Amino acid sequence: MKPKILIVEDEEAILKGLCDVFVYNGYEVDSAINGKDGLDKSLTGNYHLIILDIMLPEVDGLTICNEIRKKDRSQPIIMLTAKGDEDDIIKGLKMGADDYIPKPFSIKELLARVEAVLRRSPKIINESEKITWGHFDIDTQNLTLTMDSKTIELTRREVDILSYLIKYHNRPISRNELLKEVWGYNNPGMDTRTVDIHMAKLRKKIEKDPQKPSLITTVRGEGYKIEPMHR
Ligand code: CA
Repeated sequence: MKPKILIVEDEEAILKGLCDVFVYNGYEVDSAINGKDGLDKSLTGNYHLIILDIMLPEVDGLTICNEIRKKDRSQPIIMLTAKGDEDDIIKGLKMGADDYIPKPFSIKELLARVEAVLRRSPKIINESEKITWGHFDIDTQNLTLTMDSKTIELTRREVDILSYLIKYHNRPISRNELLKEVWGYNNPGMDTRTVDIHMAKLRKKIEKDPQKPSLITTVRGEGYKIEPMHR
């Protein structure tokens, strides 16, 4: 079966170019040229992946991302951001995008990122699995974490991060390892903001004091580690 992707981009030449590239590479492609159309299609179509430009007429990409996440916490989303626009990158990831690609991008890089987002590491979890860690009960199918009788909604990516940290709880996990194993990057580069912003969001949800995390700690120079918890 061909992976089905939606591309939302208002610059006609870029949109057409992207559609051609993905069709040529064996994807089924749907497109939207403005934010309103993009939002409608995002919420009603079934896509393996949505590629979302941020600057769009009518409804911007961040709003679309936010609306998708309200409805679907596992939909893979990649944002297209203007090169060097740190604010957009951070906002996009905070809104729940899985990853971002700065424009102008190379086709090779774009295809690699798309494949990475679509390729969830089979090493991590079985989707019907329940994972327990101390007083955390993680439901990997419904994407929830229950702690102290409180239920927290997680995204697919957050469940994957937690599962990976729990699986390898006896050592710190580097950002590059997370990019490789959780995001599926073949060659993680220097840019680890995607990991850090996802981690900040996750800490905000599960830590008592996200500024002084005690559950997922940072090991200086090494990465992140999940700490033991006792019931
Ligand atoms: Ca645009």
